[in-house]
This record gives sequence, structure tokens and C-alpha cells, in this order.
Amino acid sequence: MSSSAGSFPPEQGLRNNYMNSPVAKIKERLSIEEVVSSYIKLDRAGVNLKAKCPFHNEKTPSFFVSPDRGSYYCFGCGAGGDIFSFVEEFEGLDFKGALKLLADKAGIPLEHFNPKEESDKEKLYRVMEEAAKYFENNLLHNKEAQNYLKTRGLNEKSIKDFRIGFANLDWRLLYNYLVKKGFTDKEIEAAGLTKASDKGFYDRFRGRVMFPIMDSGGRVIAFSGRIFIDDGKSAKYLNSPETPVFNKSAVLYGLDKAKESIRKNNFSILVEGQMDLILSHQAGYKNTIATSGTALSDTTISKESVVSNLGLVRRLTPNIVLAFDGDVAGANASNRAGRIALSLGMDVKVVAMQEGVDPADLISQNGSGASAPAWREAIKNSKHIIEFLLNKTLENSSNDTRKIGKEIKEKVLPFVDMLGSAIEKAHFIKKISDQSNIPESALKDDLQKIEQELKYEKREIEEAEESLSGMYRKDYILRKLSGIILWQRTLKEQALDVENTIKKLADILKISPELVLENSKGSEGDLIFEAEVFYGGDADLKKDVEEMLSNLEEEYLKEELARKMRELYLAEEAGDPQKSNQILKECQLLNNQIQDIKNGRLKK
Ligand SMILES: [Zn+2]
Repeated sequence: MSSSAGSFPPEQGLRNNYMNSPVAKIKERLSIEEVVSSYIKLDRAGVNLKAKCPFHNEKTPSFFVSPDRGSYYCFGCGAGGDIFSFVEEFEGLDFKGALKLLADKAGIPLEHFNPKEESDKEKLYRVMEEAAKYFENNLLHNKEAQNYLKTRGLNEKSIKDFRIGFANLDWRLLYNYLVKKGFTDKEIEAAGLTKASDKGFYDRFRGRVMFPIMDSGGRVIAFSGRIFIDDGKSAKYLNSPETPVFNKSAVLYGLDKAKESIRKNNFSILVEGQMDLILSHQAGYKNTIATSGTALSDTTISKESVVSNLGLVRRLTPNIVLAFDGDVAGANASNRAGRIALSLGMDVKVVAMQEGVDPADLISQNGSGASAPAWREAIKNSKHIIEFLLNKTLENSSNDTRKIGKEIKEKVLPFVDMLGSAIEKAHFIKKISDQSNIPESALKDDLQKIEQELKYEKREIEEAEESLSGMYRKDYILRKLSGIILWQRTLKEQALDVENTIKKLADILKISPELVLENSKGSEGDLIFEAEVFYGGDADLKKDVEEMLSNLEEEYLKEELARKMRELYLAEEAGDPQKSNQILKECQLLNNQIQDIKNGRLKK
């Protein structure tokens, strides 16, 4: 997006030319039905359409789309909104990212709708884009690095499509280049491209093959650099730090190029490395995504991050094939991701990989062209994770039934426990019994014990999922409200009592009014732009703001209730009836408040 023309001076607002706003134009051309059904399958339900909610794990559909109102709502998790909020949440994009994507889809040019000032975030995107171009250009002049990529099996098209580049082994080449392009030290450092020292700034990436990481809209948000000449001291892979545009728990490598194919083929293939991913795409498996540069395969990373990343894929399809490296670390990462994926209601298959072999090796076998027969066979022969683990356990153990029983209890049954449906559990118990000759009743007894042991872990995953969607919704509403406040302040005639709105917001957040806009610092331009194009022609702004406030309050009360329920659980475990009673009363009070908000909504 170019940032030159600014067509809505804030002081005029949008009231008069609302119909010219990009939001209105896009909504005119794209129906909610069209947009949502390009992501998930919708079924008729009277005048509405319904589906299983893409934003939470459920078995019966409670996600409804209303073509008349141009909106959607989920009765299970409370997700709701229009085509813009849908694309934002589904794709993990910010408003401008969603605007760009939908404008492209609707065939509407965006040039005229940009605000005059480039925001901090837009600068970050631009500096990352410049760096990517710089690295790409370096690679064009580096025969050695090109040869390396070719010996690894990459063809020229893949190198170009994935925008692979090279960072020369020097201290300040990129830094100097970006300064010449007009970026400040602060901007370059904020993008994670340089580090500060006593002697000034120096480049973070040196002597590395550079893989840009894109968000699902295709914007460069980070880099992963692979060491070119191993000096034995430097890390093999170096990733960008977290920045305002790079959140490690909300990005998978290659998702921007894989999402269409994942949707079409109704399954995804998850690999560990960039090389694995690019070669898999090159071999025709464009539904491949990778964990590299993200948190999924790192065992020190929180469950929340894994849940968040797998949640991104689950929205596209619940079917996932894990193809991790054939070593101990790979197996551990695969098991961890597999367990969490199962508990998120996904169908998980595993590709059997020989010790010391990774997908890149397998694909390069017999050439890495579009056929890649070894890779094709491996994916075709992938097995459900429980079957896979069962086979492995039976292969590795002797004929000692007691020993086999113990191994199955430790290595296989915990995965059965993660399954959501009782029918599926019964199916696998039978299968395990058939193959191991252990009676079903004995397996069921063991499974019950495991259910007790893993109760806490399962609850943790559920809570992570809930708190993530709650956090997302809270942030989303807060951002919208902050934008409206900032925007209204720029107008002479305000459609809203701004100070009162701030006060209400402060009450909900339990902070002082002065701190309400604290988190908006640095992104005011973006927020005003978003509010203006979104609510510029809104005759019911006051009502909409009231609704947002009550939704936000509900999210906070729900969060408080979840916290209290945890305390209640602990007090009960500790056998403290007095404390339990007290907490129970508090829970009931919170519950009443939540019900009041819900009832109020129904009356409208
Ligand atoms: Zn939902």
C-alpha cells in the first residue's frame, strides 16, 4: 500500500462520502456468505447458514451466518462480526491486512484510502520488505550460496517464490543500506534487524542464508537465517526476535502460500524446517506448513503458543499430517504437537521417518521434481498417531505381555485419553486390544487411571484455548473502542460523549481514565484510520459503542469467573469448606452479572 494520498482529512470525517469508503464498497461487492464460505463449509439453516465454529472446538454447529444482516455469530464462544472481523480473526491479520485482502478479492483499488501519515507498524512492514529485497539481491550476486541451495535440491522458481536471500558476512552492510533508504536507527532496531553495541549498531544476521517469514497476507514480518559456513560457534538457525509485527505464537512458516491448498485438499502437512517445507511445495505438496521460526517445536515454549499455532491450521481443516525429523528431538516434538492437536479435536496422522532422515532428505531422494516418489509414498502411508505409536511400541518390545502392557499404558493410552469422543476412544481400545492381545477391560482400567492423572493437563489445554480466544476478543474490542475515541476527538461535532465513554471503559478495565489510551501510543494513526473507515457513516455509533462496552465487560467477567472457578477447585481439593463457600458466593455473583448482560442483549 502506498502511503501518499490521504483522502479523508480527519476534521471532515466521513459522513458525507461514506458510500465512497473502501469498507462500504467492499461490503457492497462481497457478501458475508461468499467470504465465509470461501474459508469454511456452510449449511442452510432456514434464512441463515450454519457451520462448526472455526474459532473454537465443537462437535455440533453453533456458528451462524446471517446474509440479511451481513454478520456472523457463534453461540458457543461469542465470536461475532462482519466480513472484516472474520478475515482478521481467521487469517490472524490486523485491520489493514484484512482490508487489503478483501479489497483485492473485491477488485477495489485502495490507493485513495490511505491516511497521510505512515504509522510505526507500517514503517516496520516497509523496513522488513526493504531488507528482504536487499537479501534477495545479495543472493543473485553470490554463486556459492546459489550453488548450496541447488545442491540441497531447490530450483530457481522455489528460490524466487519463497524470496530466499543472503546476508553477507559483514557487520553493517544492511544497516548502512537501510539508513541510506531513510530509516532511522530506532526503526531498524525495532524491526529486529540490528543490535546495539558500544560502537553503534550492527547487523543481527551475518553470513546466513535468509528465509523471510510472511504473515498469512504475504507481508514479510520476520527472518530465519541459516548459517552458511559453520564456524562451530554460531547457532545453526537464527530467528528474528518478537516485534510489534512478529508474534511467534501466531505464525506458521509458509501458511500464506499453503492456505488455499490446505482448504482444497482438506488436510495439512506439518514439517519442522524451511528446507523441508520448500522442497515439499516444490514436489507438489503445497498444503505443507512448517514450525520453523515459530514456537511449535521448541519444548520450552508454552502450551498456549502451541495451541495458538495449531488453532490457526485447524480453522482451515481438522486433518493434519505430522512429518517431523526421524530423531529423538523430532519424535518428542511430534508427540507434543500430536497430543495437543488431538485435544483440540484434530485428526492427527504421522509419517514414519527413519532414524536420521528428515523430509528434505526423503524428497530429494530420486530427484526433487514434481514426482518425489519416496515422499509421496511416505505421506500416503501415514498412520493415525495412535496406530503409529502402537505399532512402534509393539515392534520394539519382546513378547513379554506385562512389559508390553506397561509400555502401552505409558506411550499409547495418554493419546487415547486426549480424544474428545467416546466412540473414538472405544474404537482405539479395541484396536489396541486386537493387536496386543491385552483384554479390553484391562486397557479400560488403565485408561481410567490415566484420565485422572492427565485431568490437569487437559484442563490446561482447554483453558489455554479459552483464554486465547477471550484475549483476542478483548483486544479486538478494546482496539476498536480506542480508535473510535481517538477519532471522535479529532472532530468538531462528536457523535458520542467521549469523556463518558472513557470513564466507562476505565471502570470495566479497573484502571484510571488517564491510562485507558496508554496501549494505543504509537498506533494512533492506524486506529483513527480504522475507526474512520469503519464507523464513518454509522448513524448508530452510540448504540454500537454501548454494545461493544457490554461485550467487553462480559469478556472480563467471564475471565474473572474462570479465575474464581480455579480457586474454588483448589479450595475444594484442599478441603477448606469455609473458603469454598465464600468463593462459591463470589462465583454466583459474577454469574448473575454475566446473565444480566446477556438478558439485556436479548431485550434490544
Ligand atoms: Zn465459536
